[in-house]
Amino acid sequence: MSINAEPLRKILELEHKKGYLDSAVIGGLDRFLHKWTGQAIESITNRQLLQSFHKLHLVDANYASLTKEQRKQWAHSVLALLAELELMPQEKGKAKLPQESVTPPKIRRAPAAGRPSLAARQQATESLDSPITAVRGISSNLVAKFNRLGVKTVRDLLYFFPHRHLDYSQRKFISQLVEGEEQTIIAHVWQAHEIMLGGRRSTEAIVGDETGNVRVVWFNNPYLVKTLRTNTRVVISGRVSLYKGRHVFESPEWELAEDKELVHTGRLVPVYPLTQGLRSRQVRQIMKRTVDQWAWQLDDFLPEELKQRCHLLDLPQAISQAHYPEDEALKVKARVRLAFDELILLQLGVLSQKRDWQESQPGNPIGVDTRLLAVFLNSLPFELTMAQHRVIEELLADLQKSRPMSRLLQGEVGSGKTVVAMAALLVAAANGYQGAFMAPTEILAEQHFTSVCHLLSRAGKQETEEDYLRSYSGLSSRPLTVALLIGDIKGVKKQKLQQYILNGDIDIVIGTHALIQKGVEFCRLGLVVVDEQHRFGVTQRSALRQKGFNPHVLVMTATPIPRTLALTLYGDLDLSVIDQLPPGRQAVKTKWLKPMQRESAHAFIRRQVASGRQAFIVCPFVEESETIQAKAAVAEYERLSREVFPDLRLGLLHGRMPSVEKDRAMRRFRAGELDILVSTPVVEVGIDVPNATVMLVESADRFGLSQLHQFRGRVGRGQEQSYCLLLAENPSDIARQRLDIIEQIRDGFQLAEEDLKLRGPGEFFGTRQSGLPDLRMAKLSDVALLELARSEAIRLFEKDPTLDKPEHHLLAKELARVWQKGTAEWS
Ligand code: ADP
Ligand code: MG
Repeated sequence: MSINAEPLRKILELEHKKGYLDSAVIGGLDRFLHKWTGQAIESITNRQLLQSFHKLHLVDANYASLTKEQRKQWAHSVLALLAELELMPQEKGKAKLPQESVTPPKIRRAPAAGRPSLAARQQATESLDSPITAVRGISSNLVAKFNRLGVKTVRDLLYFFPHRHLDYSQRKFISQLVEGEEQTIIAHVWQAHEIMLGGRRSTEAIVGDETGNVRVVWFNNPYLVKTLRTNTRVVISGRVSLYKGRHVFESPEWELAEDKELVHTGRLVPVYPLTQGLRSRQVRQIMKRTVDQWAWQLDDFLPEELKQRCHLLDLPQAISQAHYPEDEALKVKARVRLAFDELILLQLGVLSQKRDWQESQPGNPIGVDTRLLAVFLNSLPFELTMAQHRVIEELLADLQKSRPMSRLLQGEVGSGKTVVAMAALLVAAANGYQGAFMAPTEILAEQHFTSVCHLLSRAGKQETEEDYLRSYSGLSSRPLTVALLIGDIKGVKKQKLQQYILNGDIDIVIGTHALIQKGVEFCRLGLVVVDEQHRFGVTQRSALRQKGFNPHVLVMTATPIPRTLALTLYGDLDLSVIDQLPPGRQAVKTKWLKPMQRESAHAFIRRQVASGRQAFIVCPFVEESETIQAKAAVAEYERLSREVFPDLRLGLLHGRMPSVEKDRAMRRFRAGELDILVSTPVVEVGIDVPNATVMLVESADRFGLSQLHQFRGRVGRGQEQSYCLLLAENPSDIARQRLDIIEQIRDGFQLAEEDLKLRGPGEFFGTRQSGLPDLRMAKLSDVALLELARSEAIRLFEKDPTLDKPEHHLLAKELARVWQKGTAEWS
């Protein structure tokens, strides 16, 4: 096997660039040499090669003590020797390590005259994008296990970060050991033997240093006896406990104190996510090897000048420190650099998307027919809030521009976003454009259809009424047509609707994802409204943009996001906020109940019903498919009807019901013909029944904060005091925290902040589904970093929007790589 000289070459080249200050590697070059040489030697099987290698005297170079001039000469001679070494003929079949035989054959360099070109060198060695078998010690049977953790290539492995680190850096003498703390000792083995502990074969050892002896046991592991021969030096890290008045280490981490760097003990030791068949010691070892062997080969894609301005670590260092930090401070710096990378790449991608979209095709300026708008607004049964007025103005201003609107509308649950969106859709329709309104669920689409039709029938005169199609006259020069298009509508009806949409006979289409499926073509789609954004990803949004000609897009969300974060994650969207609730809304009283209080919750519902109110009951949460959820809902509905509320009128709502039935249940509940609506979590979004005053959520511990807030938002819409009752069988610590928070905090923004703290942005936004690149290192507490990444991204974008400058070449490549992984939209 040949040596891989690339890491060393890179470091030396960097040293050269930095003026031989011994600053290319953290911890100094000598230390790196020590480490690298050890590994390189292991991989050389050719004796001649080995001899030449020893001539380099890398281990005892003592670089730190040389003058700059001496360093320069030394570096040059090493580079020259490395080049020679790489040209030496290879010997086959002498693989020293057993693993070698199971790894697939590797590409070998063809013998060439002179120093091989850079391209040839790269082709010859494995790259960071090679499968993980390129790492020594990863056999093909480990591949599947790593794949299960999402790790396929060497690069993935470098980015496979530990959850956390154990602090085993506190070295103690045996006489100094105290109970209960993580401590490390270095000691000699006096004696180790097998014993039975709790019926299991185990190892017991007595180890000592110059200050005393201590007993160590490893449960259920008799094999250590062989390794721990008398007089070997071991490093032991773990907690000490007291047994019969004496200190003992119980199953601590251990490793032999050889010359090698420590991996499991005596330092900050990484704790990796595992999967069946992967053991932590093994993963640590593999990761150490990967980092030492490969991290140096990562191209640092951030421009030097930016890194200096922001005081960021170099990428290879950040990666290696994220895994095996030298100390706490470097661990933090590593995380900062890696989180910054995620955020700036996210931001750059989002900015480019916005540019592509707004500049590739002109939009359609929509004139504003204020007469129609006035008729509509005057016909509403309520006065708009100031915030609603303001947002309508913002939307109308956008619609009139030839740059397509791209706006995010945030508004607390119940703040009245629908009516604002309707105003914009009407304006589009009055000016000859079609509008599409997309809801996250069919039930909600149906509800929107019903309420939109209701509002329009107050403003104009209803002309036709079909199941899925209504038209109204008196609103503009011609009748205005509204249609509902959902998955349920099939066959001829569907074809007819699609034909109407294509002909331009329908002005406003309300629907779900079905709207962006193939087959639905618009005639002149001018405005798209997407309700409850967190269910819609970037990719879905972009599919809409391709319908017709570059429509204006309004995305609405009731999950408020702190502004900086919104700007980063939805940087392609402008922001409007409805920060005011309609007058008269009451705060919903929220209570987290113990399981034994379920009966009193039911009694409470009964009392509310007796005084003319209604209630929602959200079924026990089953995580599986919608079909299974539906089954559970049916069972719960039957149980409640039979055993708990036999005298009350119960209705059932779940996603698998045919839409006529759903519609009927909703209609009856809204009309007050049902007292209690038993439902799957589909009620979470949007449903609006002002007379409902109780929301009882079963398995409340299984929902996130924003979901719970959504449930709670279903009540408190009328004048009556409303209640949200949360039942949790067996909440975990984090679920308890959530329940405490939701009990205390009413404000959606504040809740979102708390939610982010508990979950981290990746999970919070479901970035995986939304097509955005992963955020693994970035956290909400990084507000300053978010702002930094954003301002740096904007600065870059202004200077070099297409990242064509040579110094941005690597960055452009990384951007394409990261985004292409996340979404098909980016190319
Ligand atoms: P959300 O923002 O959660 O989507 P909706 O648009 O569903 O809220 O509105 C919630 C309820 O408030 C609806 O019944 C709607 O008709 C009503 N509403 C909207 N605006 C006002 C207002 N300005 N005054 C009173 N009620 C309003
Ligand atoms: Mg809504």
